Amino acid sequence: MSQQENVLSVRNISKSFGAIHAVKNVSFDVHKGEILGLIGPNGSGKSTLFNCILGQSTPNKGEVFVYGKSVAGKTAHQLNQLGVGRTFQQLSVFPKMSVIENIIMAGQEHQGTMLSRLFGPSDAGLTPVAEQLIAFFRLEHLRDEMAGSLSYGQQKLLDAAMAFMAGPGLVLLDEPAGGVNLTMLEYLKDRLRTYNQEHNSTFVVIEHNMEFVMSLCTRIIVLAAGEIIAEGTPDDIRNNEQVIEAYLGG
Ligand code: ADP
Ligand code: MG
Repeated sequence: MSQQENVLSVRNISKSFGAIHAVKNVSFDVHKGEILGLIGPNGSGKSTLFNCILGQSTPNKGEVFVYGKSVAGKTAHQLNQLGVGRTFQQLSVFPKMSVIENIIMAGQEHQGTMLSRLFGPSDAGLTPVAEQLIAFFRLEHLRDEMAGSLSYGQQKLLDAAMAFMAGPGLVLLDEPAGGVNLTMLEYLKDRLRTYNQEHNSTFVVIEHNMEFVMSLCTRIIVLAAGEIIAEGTPDDIRNNEQVIEAYLGG
């Protein structure tokens, strides 16, 4: 059985910026179908770790494996083509493009080059998948609205939908619920959970909202000052002294 198949393996990743050791010798595995939470105080290295995993930043040390294969030297674009999607902590929607155009554009990022984007068919055959995602995230009524005219929560939802254009395999979400109101938060959680169940896809989610993390994630890893200080089920983490201290002391 492939119950414990590793979709993502992070081995001894370290990343420094000058004298700042943002990530220190971090190793973990993510199994197929898991929703892994990555939490920790501000500045603990979570986004840097995502950047190292996704080829946006070159680690000083260590290696990342996707489906058992090293992805060293692969660009973010090449990772997208392997079916690895991500969202950024900061919104990355194009405000002057419509919702459907944003989602198609995200797919083209994953699929094609700038040349094929300029000279290829206008949607590169991506419209049906984009429409499915619009329906899944129930954005139909906003399909042709400019992304910039959506509420912040709706833009975060669009941003998440865009990450799924890489395919359902592995999606890394950096604070998808940041600044989102309670209703939208519950909705986002429901959509992520349902997508995970329907596609048996694998997520890694960075999030500060503890209620969101604890109720969505099956397992949680805690970073503090660039190091893993705890790993376990939501209940383990909730009651872990070191974790409580890291947050209070941070
Ligand atoms: P988190 O996402 O957990 O809040 P980050 O990964 O963004 O943490 O940051 C970890 C540490 O690395 C922080 O001290 C931050 O200031 C530093 N850092 C992150 N990116 C850079 C960068 N591009 N240049 C210099 N320092 C950085
Ligand atoms: Mg961050």
